[in-house]
Amino acid sequence: MAAELTRAAGLGMTSQRSRARMIERLREQGIHDEKVLAALAAVPRHLFIEEALASRAYEDTALPLGFSQTISQPFVVARMLEILLDKRGGLGKTLEVGAGSGYQAAVLAQLTPEVYALERIGALLARAKLNLRAISQFRVRLKHADGWLGLPEAAPFDTIILAAAAPSVPSALLQQLSLGGRMLLPLGSGDQQLVLIERYAEACVETRLDGVRFVPLLSGLE
Ligand code: SAH
Repeated sequence: MAAELTRAAGLGMTSQRSRARMIERLREQGIHDEKVLAALAAVPRHLFIEEALASRAYEDTALPLGFSQTISQPFVVARMLEILLDKRGGLGKTLEVGAGSGYQAAVLAQLTPEVYALERIGALLARAKLNLRAISQFRVRLKHADGWLGLPEAAPFDTIILAAAAPSVPSALLQQLSLGGRMLLPLGSGDQQLVLIERYAEACVETRLDGVRFVPLLSGLE
């Protein structure tokens, strides 16, 4: 029993140290928003990954989640959050499309109290639920739904973030963006680019940012 406890504590320490190193690496890569860094520092990424891969949880790499899906690279999560927060007080009511393991939703929940996350694969959604429960994160509202349609019953959203690449901007999501709201998505079916869309009264302003590689935004439920 004592040995077990020591081992668990040891693992905890190791993961805390690796997480601190991950944060240092993100700083070196140019992430400067302290709120974003603190949010990533607060979420134990290894708990969102299969045990066999957990030792690689704090490398800056995408890792497989099963079902041909991947958990995003920490740098990409950090970069997207930094863009969404830039010159804004907070994220406000947030919708994530593509909950996957629940990792990014957990990071979002560190930054804003109202997070909705959609996932089209039922089995992944069930796992995301368990993962979030394991870290006592009960604030994220997970839904088995097709992100192309958004979540009209909870709209409008101040922030919409897509974790899968759309060939075109989903019009339902655009309609569910509040005035002054921001949506960030990987756009493109071949080469992909992060695209920021800001909604104003008169028009939407689109800004093209970094080249990226995400799994595709599919339709329908599984
Ligand atoms: N944010 C996730 C990464 C998920 S990878 C994490 O932190 O682990 C992208 C996810 O988008 C996959 O789980 C995939 O099933 C989901 N996805 C793809 N198309 C979708 C759609 N139309 N609606 C909802 N989820 C979708």
